Amino acid sequence: MLIWGWRTRIYVLAMTTFLCGRCGNPASHAVRKAVTKFTLFFIPLFPISVKYTAQCTFCGIENRISKEDAVRLQAQEEQGQAQQQAAPGYPPHPSQPQGFPQQGYPPHPSQPQGLPQQGQFPQQGQ
Ligand SMILES: [Zn+2]
Repeated sequence: MLIWGWRTRIYVLAMTTFLCGRCGNPASHAVRKAVTKFTLFFIPLFPISVKYTAQCTFCGIENRISKEDAVRLQAQEEQGQAQQQAAPGYPPHPSQPQGFPQQGYPPHPSQPQGLPQQGQFPQQGQ
């Protein structure tokens, strides 16, 4: 007896921001790749279909896009991330060893006088 079927796996390729064609918002879109594979005895053998979609996170519409578009969007996002990550990585002032100027701490914070002073209890009862 053959047990066969198919299984779809979703890969999120990128989260990119572009103008949605439906709601018109410059919303971030989840670029996904859905790979449906033929399985035999629950073992995925070969892909039946591969489709790429971009879902608007604002209005939720899911558009089919071509593989070329998906690759292009993914490359765009990777470039954007590389630029974003490179910028704050440089220390702005590497010649300042101590970045914490001591400001404003009172050396002796005023101690409240409310501590119980032992040994000065009035001796009562005599
Ligand atoms: Zn939208």
